[in-house]
Amino acid sequence: MIKKSIYLDNNASTPLSAEVLECMMPFFTEHYGNPSSTNHNYGLYLERVVAQNRSTLAEIFGLQPDGIVFTASATESINLVIKGVIEQFWPNKRKLIISKIEHPAAYKTAEYLESKGVQVVYLNVDQEGFIDLEELKKQLDSTTALVSIIAANNEIGTIQNIEQIAALCKEQNVLSHFDFAQLAGKVSVNVTALHADFITLSAHKHHGPVGVGALLSHKAALSSLTPLLHGGGQEYGLRSGTLNTAHIVGLVKCFAIYHSRMQDDYNTIRSHWDYLYSSLIDDSTGFVLNGPKTNRLFTNFNFYIPGVSFGTVQQKLPNFAFSGSSACATRTGIKSYVLHALGFSQHRINNSIRIGIGRQTTRQELELLVTELQNNFRK
Ligand code: PLP
Repeated sequence: MIKKSIYLDNNASTPLSAEVLECMMPFFTEHYGNPSSTNHNYGLYLERVVAQNRSTLAEIFGLQPDGIVFTASATESINLVIKGVIEQFWPNKRKLIISKIEHPAAYKTAEYLESKGVQVVYLNVDQEGFIDLEELKKQLDSTTALVSIIAANNEIGTIQNIEQIAALCKEQNVLSHFDFAQLAGKVSVNVTALHADFITLSAHKHHGPVGVGALLSHKAALSSLTPLLHGGGQEYGLRSGTLNTAHIVGLVKCFAIYHSRMQDDYNTIRSHWDYLYSSLIDDSTGFVLNGPKTNRLFTNFNFYIPGVSFGTVQQKLPNFAFSGSSACATRTGIKSYVLHALGFSQHRINNSIRIGIGRQTTRQELELLVTELQNNFRK
C-alpha cells in the first residue's frame, strides 16, 4: 500500500475527476462492442456516441469534427504529426524546426529523424524559456516542412507566443504544430482562428483518463500526414485500431468541464500560484523561481533553493509528492535539458523542484508546504 502524501505533481498527471469517471463507466459495463462494427445496435450506438463526442470536442476547440483524430496519448499525436509531415514532404522539404525545451515526445522524435538525415533546427530560448522569434523567422524557408513548438512547457510553465509563431509560419507557408498537452483547458483555444495546422491534446493532464489523446487539425492539413499505424483504417486511415469509446468519452468530458468553468479554475489556481510566489520567492528565503512570472502556466511552480539538494528537500518533506524534473526525464534518468537550455548552473539543473497544482489542490495543503519549506530551508 502506497503511503498517502499530499499530491503536488499535477504537471505529470492529475487525478481522474469523479464526473469524468461517471460518464465513462457505462462504456466499460453496459455499452460494449466496436464503434466500427455497425451491423447491429451495439456498434451503431457506440458509433453515434463517438460522433457526438467528436462534435462536442470540435465545438470546444473551434474546428470541424472531421479535423479530429483520436489517439492514445499526446506522445502518439506528436509522433503522428512530426513523422507524418516529414515523411509526406521528404525529400523536397527536409527541415524540421523545434525548440530546445520541447517535451521528449517531440525532442526524441526530432533526434530520431535527425539520425535518418532530417535537418533539425533546435531554437534557442531565453532565461525564462521564450523562444527567439527572430531566430525562427531566419530559419523559416522553402525547405521547412514543419515547426513544432510546445505551447506551455511542462517543467517551467512558459507559454510561448503561439499566435505570432503560427502567423510567421502561415506567412512562409510552413505547417505549424503546437503541443497543448499542458495548456489545453487552461486557456480558451480556437484552432481555426489561431491558424495553427495541428494541436495535440492529452486527457490525463486535465483530470481525464490516462491513455487517450487527440490531434486537432483540419481536413486539408490531415491529408498531408502519413499514418503511424496501419490496419483497419479508422480515423480517416490515419490511426488504425478499434476506437476506445470509454476513453474518448472521458477525454471529451474533461475538456467540456474545463470549458464550462475555465475562469473559476483560473482564479483559484492563480491565487494558489500567487500565494506560493509571495511566500517562497523573496529575500528572506533566498529561493529562486525557474521560468517566467507572467505568460505562464499557473499550475506549475518550479523553483530552486540555492545550495540545497533535491534529495534533502525530499527527505525533509516526506509528506509531499512533488518532482525534481519532468516525469519523463525522471524515468530516463536524464537531468533536465530544459533547465540546461535556460543557461542555469549544474547544481540548479539537478536540484530544482517542480510543484504541480491541480484542481483538487487546497490552500491548506499549500500552507503546509510553505511552512515546511520555510522552517527547513529559509536562509
Ligand atoms: N507534451 C507535454 C507538454 C507533456 O507535458 C506531456 C506529458 O508529460 C506530453 C506531451 C506527453 O503526454 P502523454 O502522457 O499523453 O503522452
